[in-house]
Amino acid sequence: MMRQFELVERVGSYDPQADEDALNRAYVFAMKMHGSQLRASGDPYFSHPVEVAGILTDYKLDSASIITALLHDTIEDTPATLEEIEKLFGPQVARLVDGVTKLTRIELTSDSAKQAENFRKLLLAMSEDIRVLLVKLADRLHNMRTLHYIKKPEKRQRIAAETMEIYAPLAERIGMDAWKMELEDRAFAELHPDARESIMTRLKYLREQGGDLVTRILDELNKVLKENGLDSVELSGREKTPYSIWRKMQMKDVAFEQLSDIMAFRVIVDSVEDCYRALGVIHGSYPMVPGRFKDYISTPKPNGYKSLHTGIIGPEKHRIEVQIRTRQMHEIAELGVAAHWSYKQGSSPNMEGRQYRWLRELLEILEHASGPEEFLEHTKLEMFQDQVFCFTPKGDLIALPSGACPVDFAYAVHTQVGDTCVGAKVNGRMVPLRTVLKNGDQVDVITSKAQTPSPEWERFVATGKARARIRRFIRSQARAQYVELGRQLLQRTFKHEGYDLTEKGLEGVLRRFKADSVEDLHAIVGEGTHTAQEVLTAVYPGVKQSRIENVVQFFRRKRSHPSPAEHRPMDREPKAVGIGALHIKGLIPGMAVHYARCCHPLPGDRIVGIVTTGRGVTIHTIDCDQLEQFSDEPERWLDLAWEGESGARTHIGRVKMVVANEPGTLGTLSTVIAKNLGNITNLKILNRTTDFFDMLMDIEVRDVKHLTNIIAALRANAAVNTVERARQ
Ligand code: MN
Repeated sequence: MMRQFELVERVGSYDPQADEDALNRAYVFAMKMHGSQLRASGDPYFSHPVEVAGILTDYKLDSASIITALLHDTIEDTPATLEEIEKLFGPQVARLVDGVTKLTRIELTSDSAKQAENFRKLLLAMSEDIRVLLVKLADRLHNMRTLHYIKKPEKRQRIAAETMEIYAPLAERIGMDAWKMELEDRAFAELHPDARESIMTRLKYLREQGGDLVTRILDELNKVLKENGLDSVELSGREKTPYSIWRKMQMKDVAFEQLSDIMAFRVIVDSVEDCYRALGVIHGSYPMVPGRFKDYISTPKPNGYKSLHTGIIGPEKHRIEVQIRTRQMHEIAELGVAAHWSYKQGSSPNMEGRQYRWLRELLEILEHASGPEEFLEHTKLEMFQDQVFCFTPKGDLIALPSGACPVDFAYAVHTQVGDTCVGAKVNGRMVPLRTVLKNGDQVDVITSKAQTPSPEWERFVATGKARARIRRFIRSQARAQYVELGRQLLQRTFKHEGYDLTEKGLEGVLRRFKADSVEDLHAIVGEGTHTAQEVLTAVYPGVKQSRIENVVQFFRRKRSHPSPAEHRPMDREPKAVGIGALHIKGLIPGMAVHYARCCHPLPGDRIVGIVTTGRGVTIHTIDCDQLEQFSDEPERWLDLAWEGESGARTHIGRVKMVVANEPGTLGTLSTVIAKNLGNITNLKILNRTTDFFDMLMDIEVRDVKHLTNIIAALRANAAVNTVERARQ
């Protein structure tokens, strides 16, 4: 284990401004906190954070990163708290340690390898600071180096699979090539020990057969390049890693015996022009292997990697891979994000690619930053900041656009879940459906079979899927209403004029109204494209327009816009009603219950309760605008649902309507309502002109379905222009 003074000296050797005092304190703090804890290897646990810190010093990271590495397991595994760390080491280190701890927690809760791609994105999105990710990757690297000490084979396998699926690609993504290769190779050794063993044996055999083949090839390549005027090239050669050979075997479905391409050579030159010159020389001297040339200089990899790659039948007729790059490209390839240190003196390399803008910004900041601290502090990971990643209660990961709410989440899980969603818990707490989700939130969607999508949702959903479903539902619902309304309008009109309404009669005029079916014709009449009277005259030519139809026509044209009414309270406001706990699920026993007067919830409505000090619980419909004011107080929300049959108990439903101002209208309305077993308890005229009444009506009903039936019956009445449930 590295001693305290060694670690501090190492940091000091590349960063003279390093905070030695803080480094010393962090070393001692972590040692104390981990105390007598042991690793699976039998070593003191404390050796692990020290090794992780050591790995990071190889990349010359700033003291905040090194301190974070020393402290990275203290919150999760020791009595230390974040407050304590903040007090001792300042807010920056506290933020970094908190970031690493969060990544560790997510790792523990999720069967992550299942959804590797999403999980990688989540880790990137949560690592707001690049240093968090660097510490996490170094942590994983050390855990992989000591993996063989873990006794249980299943645990070793799980960790190795996770490393292969998630951490190695992450290391590649931020350009940490050496880490990526080591992580891959160690995971490979655990997951496929036999395959790795046989590849190693074969490599050994080839090595023995060929003598010092790599050296001979290097010498010849060097000679060829020099002869063609490329004097200052740097050449190196190596065998590929067992894992990269194995992957090639899998991808190309070739046996190892046929796989001759096991050596890779690297040519490092001074300039981009020399890269292409060297390529020309090599292609001119040896046969090319078709399909192996790749120009990553003109089209860099997403992580900023640049090089020319080619495959040739090289010296002694060996198939080899050759990579050609400049020194700068090489350092970025080798060190990834850590490469910036090398550029402190020189010019910053020109990083292309929008996706890795942060990497470019990082290098730009470097140029102007005075020291490593400032430099790294400004380095934020921007990738995937436009996305948010949340968990289902089972630990599945759902990726959503940022700004998404529980309704989006519900639709992303399953259309059915979205359609029947009534509420949501985020991290165990009931929240409004419009709550914006955050990275790592666990979302538990509450559904009810009786529910349907609400038009209100459209105002706050962020995903196209949710919006499309809600619209589709509204359309289909509206269509059903238009069909029913049209059917009733036709019945009424035909009866009123004394004619028979038959399917056959309607079928005969379908074409005239561009209708595909009788139902379609009903809808056309219901939505007002054509009137029932027009249909009547089509079926029975020569019928005169009736008076009622004229009135309806009049209102349709007018689409009345009543002037805003003066706000007189209704004479008899509905009283607060105590409800037996029998009918509402989720109530706290013994608490007084009131129905909100803004939205008049009815059985069948989606509802929530708001706890009011001294008044008990007020029940609102879940789409009530008044709920907005409680959105910051999730603790006051109660998840409620109607339960069982509403029985004999009645509730007040409030409707707003516009009706014809003519004798007998009110009588007709009360007849329609009475026929449908509703009881008018209150009526308020908001506005009255020569043509229409604009009014509010309170009706005693059993539940929302009952009220919906009454509304449908009112709509079918010719004297009613519009009718809808009143809000506010
Ligand atoms: Mn650790």
